[in-house]
Amino acid sequence: MSTTTIGHLIGGHIVTPAGRSQPVYNPATGQADKQVLLAEVATVEEAIANAQAAYPAWRNTPPLKRARVMSKLKELLEQHADELCALITAEHGKVLGDALGELQRGIENVEYASYAPELLKGEHSKNVGPSIDSWSEFQALGVCAGISPFNFPVMVPLWMWPMAVACGNTFVLKPSERDPSSTLRVAQLALQAGLPPGVLNVVNGDKTAVDTLLHDPRVKAVSFVGSTPIAEYIYSEGCKHGKRVQALGGAKNHAVVMPDADIANAVNALMGAAYGSCGERCMAIPLVVAVGDATGDAVVAGLKAEIAKMKVGPGTDSSCDMGPLVTKPHFDKVKGYVDQGVAEGATLVVDGRSLKVPGHEDGYFLGACLFDHVKPGMRIYQEEIFGPVLGVVRVKTLQEAMDLIDAHEYGNGTCIFTRDGEAARYFTDHIQVGMVGVNVPLPVPVAYHSFGGWKRSLFGDLHAYGPDAVRFYTKRKTITQRWPSAGVREGTIFSFPSSR
Ligand code: NAD
Repeated sequence: MSTTTIGHLIGGHIVTPAGRSQPVYNPATGQADKQVLLAEVATVEEAIANAQAAYPAWRNTPPLKRARVMSKLKELLEQHADELCALITAEHGKVLGDALGELQRGIENVEYASYAPELLKGEHSKNVGPSIDSWSEFQALGVCAGISPFNFPVMVPLWMWPMAVACGNTFVLKPSERDPSSTLRVAQLALQAGLPPGVLNVVNGDKTAVDTLLHDPRVKAVSFVGSTPIAEYIYSEGCKHGKRVQALGGAKNHAVVMPDADIANAVNALMGAAYGSCGERCMAIPLVVAVGDATGDAVVAGLKAEIAKMKVGPGTDSSCDMGPLVTKPHFDKVKGYVDQGVAEGATLVVDGRSLKVPGHEDGYFLGACLFDHVKPGMRIYQEEIFGPVLGVVRVKTLQEAMDLIDAHEYGNGTCIFTRDGEAARYFTDHIQVGMVGVNVPLPVPVAYHSFGGWKRSLFGDLHAYGPDAVRFYTKRKTITQRWPSAGVREGTIFSFPSSR
């Protein structure tokens, strides 16, 4: 079997320097016919140097021209949708329809970046003093870096670099080494759309590449999305080296089901939110908090019936609802959590551990698993599993449900299913979570809002994409100017300037 080598995109060219590499697996087959290069320090430094060299001209390119590249990229992404989705599915495993959803959300971020001239207009005040005008403008930072996770290889990088470059920065992106091909292909399409060489560089790699980005003084800002331990490391290490950092971490999202909820609709919504993309979403719902035992019984019965109808298989088969997990180590980890939940005393209502997909015996397929009577002290309650494992916790009141959510270390997303407006309003007002849904299981903000969790789901002050990204990728400069009329002489003033 011939092996494809996945290199880096530096200065507008794919480069394949000799050095370390690792296999990229197709999770539906367990086969690896690709090797991804793992950049050494020198390769990352070359990418940073290219970004640095491209910066002055790109910074001075009118925002409208930068925005037009984004408009062209949007067109190209739409034209290449089938190719990109096939690449996502071949390395991540998610079903093609889900890959298309990811691509679409990514395209919306490119579209938002194409509004850069409007978003960068700044703020102006005339006559802040006698003949004095003042304005704030938003200037680019320089070279920015992005480090992205495996679970959205197209969308998450598109949360980062399009807005950064539309604001006049140049960029070095370090995608996940587990499924790098679609990310790299999008970067090539950006070149085709007219992005000058060096404005966007992609280095594949591991901790060596990440640490080089974190330590190099030419990198001014770092955006990270991934697990919480790494997010915390990136935030502290990046800040220590004087960079602006936003680091989005892991999640354990709870869905509250109230006794008055439309249970059939809630169950349908929970199925997609728990098992879509094999549970490998930071906005997935791995926990249901049922208020009242009757609600718990109805939800568990409904989920059990729906799971029986699910089809699990390769993501390329359009009749499948769920594909495989991303890698064998991740499969083993998720399966280990199911074993752990049983050992901890939760009731395993549906056991997907023995699932076999005919013709795909070496794929990393795990069937949907459902636990009832999950308790807050259990590891399957506390820890992020990131797989098709849904647990039901039973409580007596909404307040008890909210106390559980607030006590959890993560605060990425949550939702409530109810017909009671007062309960929904109380929940959205008080819950300590960054993104909240009411009868919406995956409340992922659209591109013109911003995305981010609370507590240990986000390190940093600004959320990803949308208006917060304009602020993250620019520095405010405020200019105050006076042009005294010829011949007008003013006395010296020693007091602090004021409008008194
Ligand atoms: P991960 O943390 O293992 O990897 C993320 C990135 O960090 C990758 O590019 C990886 O190469 C790099 N990395 C890994 N170990 C490193 C180390 N020791 N030092 C430096 N860099 C390192 O995450 P993942 O498994 O790729 O993605 C899944 C995780 O991402 C989940 O925890 C999920 O919740 C989270 N996630 C969060 C969001 C969000 O918006 N909050 C979105 C998507 C995914």
